[in-house]
Amino acid sequence: MDVLVLAARDAPGASGALVDEERTARLVAAARRFSGVVDVLLPAAADDGAARMAADGLAALQGVRRVWLAADARLTGWLAEPLAALLADVVRCEGYARIIGDSSLAHRDVLARLAGLLRAPALTDVVDIIDADTVRRPMYAGDILATVGIRSELAVLLLRAVAFAPAEKIAEEAAVEVVVPEMPGNLPCPVELLEEEAGDSSGRPDLGRARIVLGMGRGAMDTESRALLLQLAEKLGAAVAATRAVVDEGLAPNDWQVGQTGKQIAPALYIAFGISGAHQHLAGIADAETIIAVNTDADAPIFAAADHGLAMDARKALKALLAELGEHVPDE
Ligand SMILES: Cc1cc2nc3c(=O)[nH]c(=O)nc-3n(C[C@H](O)[C@H](O)[C@H](O)COP(=O)(O)OP(=O)(O)OC[C@H]3O[C@@H](n4cnc5c(N)ncnc54)[C@H](O)[C@@H]3O)c2cc1C
Repeated sequence: MDVLVLAARDAPGASGALVDEERTARLVAAARRFSGVVDVLLPAAADDGAARMAADGLAALQGVRRVWLAADARLTGWLAEPLAALLADVVRCEGYARIIGDSSLAHRDVLARLAGLLRAPALTDVVDIIDADTVRRPMYAGDILATVGIRSELAVLLLRAVAFAPAEKIAEEAAVEVVVPEMPGNLPCPVELLEEEAGDSSGRPDLGRARIVLGMGRGAMDTESRALLLQLAEKLGAAVAATRAVVDEGLAPNDWQVGQTGKQIAPALYIAFGISGAHQHLAGIADAETIIAVNTDADAPIFAAADHGLAMDARKALKALLAELGEHVPDE
């Protein structure tokens, strides 16, 4: 069953690269489970050196047959409307049976439109592929893991990329072809990208890729705890996440939110400060390797999900950790 993977775009300002190669490698590894041809489509504003370099990188991923480098000014910013129309064109011409992206907001934007154009089902948050017609996905914010049968020849799948190990890179000489498709003249472009501004200029690692993430909950959102948590993040080279409660208070930007309606992350270490552990939050950290929880309430649900727990005040724990790491901390 032939598969088309939409390359994962790097967050604007994250690394300067066009494409998030690691996330795309995870999608490619998942796509290989369909046991057919795996092609990747990389949208770019122009067929220039940066686009070619990104395409070559994807072409070297194990299992990829071809990279479509779709280069056109109308695709600047990977706008959903023209990109979905282009993908529909490529899918119809090439006869792919499965189209794969990740569960990021950007891919949801594009692939929901694509499913509509193709009149195909779209399955979100897929975490496992059993066979070409059977996948697994959480429902009710992770309370249920559902096995879903696909009863359609054509389907769009949005995967939780972090649930799949990335495809390896193979030797340069094994790299496959990069094809620049002819762009349709009638791509619908009802909107135009005027400007993109990076949301986070802190220099901290990207939340989706960080090995260590510090989570800020309502119990650690007071001014002092927040400052200490950011100091610890700086010291550890960690990214910072927040619960929806903190985001709703306006004390953290939207793109820090982790959970059912936020991001799904898979760090090696997640430290939850003052987070109760609502299942909507836990849905975003299910793939974290190790979870440490700090909460004054020893009965908080977060402790059931955590590998290690500290029943103590978040501010005191943050101070103790910083002191242990040789950082200057203000006296009580
Ligand atoms: C449809 C829907 C979608 C949602 N999506 C998300 C989502 O994507 N992400 C998300 O996070 N939430 C989501 N929520 C909200 C979720 O249900 C919770 O309300 C939220 O996660 C709670 O955030 P919190 O743990 O920061 O706050 P609280 O639940 O208020 O918990 C605060 C915790 O801090 C502890 N505490 C208090 N003081 C201290 C202290 N000094 N030191 C240490 N601990 C202390 C308390 O014991 C408590 O356990 C969603 C809700 C709905 C209905």
